Amino acid sequence: MTETDPHLTYRGRFAPSPTGRLHFGSLVAALGSWLLARHHRGEWLIRMEDLDPPREVPGAAEAQLATLAAFGMTSDLPVVWQSQRHDRYAEALGQLLADGAAFECRCSRTDLAAVGGIHRVCVTHDPARPPAIRLRVADDSRVAFADGLQGFVEQTVDRAVGDVVLRRADGFWAYQLAVVVDDADQGISDVVRGADLLDSTPRQILLQRALGLPTPRYLHLPLIVDADGQKLSKSMAALPIDNDTPLPALRAAWTALGQPAGALADATSVAVALASAQRHFQADALPKVTHMTFAAAHNKPVAGAV
Ligand code: GLU
Repeated sequence: MTETDPHLTYRGRFAPSPTGRLHFGSLVAALGSWLLARHHRGEWLIRMEDLDPPREVPGAAEAQLATLAAFGMTSDLPVVWQSQRHDRYAEALGQLLADGAAFECRCSRTDLAAVGGIHRVCVTHDPARPPAIRLRVADDSRVAFADGLQGFVEQTVDRAVGDVVLRRADGFWAYQLAVVVDDADQGISDVVRGADLLDSTPRQILLQRALGLPTPRYLHLPLIVDADGQKLSKSMAALPIDNDTPLPALRAAWTALGQPAGALADATSVAVALASAQRHFQADALPKVTHMTFAAAHNKPVAGAV
């Protein structure tokens, strides 16, 4: 694995997709990446991953930026919008095609159902269908990395996910390609994001290697589960974040990150709370998983990190 030069300045990012309002899970990811960047005296950037118009909600990107601002988190450099970067993705894809590392594929989801959706070889070549472009993943593509929180992670990408889609048959760029190109172009040294994306990291590392790009350090923040260990239901995970009274959600996100509740208890403003959070943040207190229950009557999250 290509390691990022440890002497490079720390540069982190938060990269939401504008598919709706920020929910509690995204607030935890934003706060965690922000705190780690500040802890390392690094920069923190926001990138808007607006590459999937069919799933996007008009105005959601602006609303997400307003929420982050209400919680005191603004990008240290101008926000990068993926929708402005088609040329860069096309260039990267062109490089992979020229190298023989990517190929056109006309298989549909239905075609691949029999193999669990894992593409290894094309089962149709129907020229009437528009092609997707996939990364050719060699047999035994085992990728291992040391996650900053979750520890040793490995995946045999050909068996777990197969040939990775880079451009979809509908013409849209796949998240996997865009995220790899952008993390490199923006000089991101540390990717800090939710553990729901842990499984995507090995294929992103393969793609970095195919493009000759460096691999950043990764840290996947705790998955938030309910008291029974189940992933939070959609309605709970989508708990609305209130821009006008941010302190309760900020405190809950802080506790979800395993940090001492007392540190923010007396804060009367977001600015005071974040200043205190920076002083008291302990990276080694981050839990791998956070159990949370929700006080239904108040619709407020109560975090208990383990
Ligand atoms: N845009 C992705 C999401 O909202 C996150 C991408 C990332 O952090 O790598 O799930």
